[in-house]
Amino acid sequence: MSTAKEYYQVLGVERTASEDEIKRAYKKLAFQYHPDRNPDSREAEEKFKDVAEAYAVLSDPEKRRLYDAYGHEGLRGAGMSPGFSSVEDIFSSFGSIFEDLFGFGMGGRGRRRGRGRGADLRLQMEISLAEAVSGLEREIMVPRLSTCPECQGGRAAPGSSPRTCPACRGSGQQVLQHGFFTMSTPCQRCGGSGEFLDQPCPRCRGAGRIEEEHKVMVTIPPGVDDGTRLRLSGEGEAGPPGGTNGDLYVDLRVLEHPRFERDGVTLHTEAEVDFVKAILGGEIEVELIEGKKTVSVPRGTQPGDTLVIPGEGVPYLRRPGRGDLVVHLKVTLPKKISGEQEELLRRYAELSQVAVKKKKKGFFGG
Ligand SMILES: [Zn+2]
Ligand SMILES: [Zn+2]
Repeated sequence: MSTAKEYYQVLGVERTASEDEIKRAYKKLAFQYHPDRNPDSREAEEKFKDVAEAYAVLSDPEKRRLYDAYGHEGLRGAGMSPGFSSVEDIFSSFGSIFEDLFGFGMGGRGRRRGRGRGADLRLQMEISLAEAVSGLEREIMVPRLSTCPECQGGRAAPGSSPRTCPACRGSGQQVLQHGFFTMSTPCQRCGGSGEFLDQPCPRCRGAGRIEEEHKVMVTIPPGVDDGTRLRLSGEGEAGPPGGTNGDLYVDLRVLEHPRFERDGVTLHTEAEVDFVKAILGGEIEVELIEGKKTVSVPRGTQPGDTLVIPGEGVPYLRRPGRGDLVVHLKVTLPKKISGEQEELLRRYAELSQVAVKKKKKGFFGG
């Protein structure tokens, strides 16, 4: 385990070493064990990792203080153990240290610089079931890095223009000779862009991009479901100068509806039918997700029977047409009836030979 190594020993310095001494020791050892100088040597790679880890701790005053006082335990306790898993790991978290120390980055190994693509953005949007059925357009504000409106991403102050970087003559690359090995790295002066700014744009300080709230119109097609992900191409963050925008992903969350349940493209709802209508048949008005519709209830309808209204469900997302609405019928019984209605029901009971309670005066209030 490399974490168990004594950091001062790894760098070969005294515990009282100054920041400068630590930096110098690290520079020397990192060169010695650099993977480009020791191809295919596991031992050198391990040493390179140990040295990077020791430097990561001892070059940081807070981490060094914890390490001096409590050792590895102290760093772990504070969640500050460096622990690099690979050489790539070291380059990606340490690019700036290498630039600092050696005056150049680590080329294609670590951070990629120069032209590229902006980051993709992701956000969640809640819509109602009715909106999922009808589709909608909604304007949203997305905080993102956008192309700077002052310089149009050109990075130079208005009136000035970038000129060819004098250090790399516009190639964006620097070839360095270090002892017996050469390295091609992004130009440090221009960051690999090949251009040099005499007057950086004041709005974006030469970055070409600014942070802003970007207005995006999201068009949601009819028929989307909970979890549908929309991709808005090019609506993500602006890329570095000369690069392209990332994409914006919108994850849809369809909220539950109090009266409708969705099963794919089928909608389910409940409707009440008076018991007489259920027995004799008739018409009822059913509430649709948009509007109402009058439908026939057949004679002899039972509680829980269903009616299907074709084409009143959820639209198909990828083809024309819609699913169905299934209406679950709830047969309702009156709580109060008139004296005349009671007489008829008693007559009905007699005819159907149903034993009922004897009449009590005023029981039904008729
Ligand atoms: Zn600008
Ligand atoms: Zn350059």
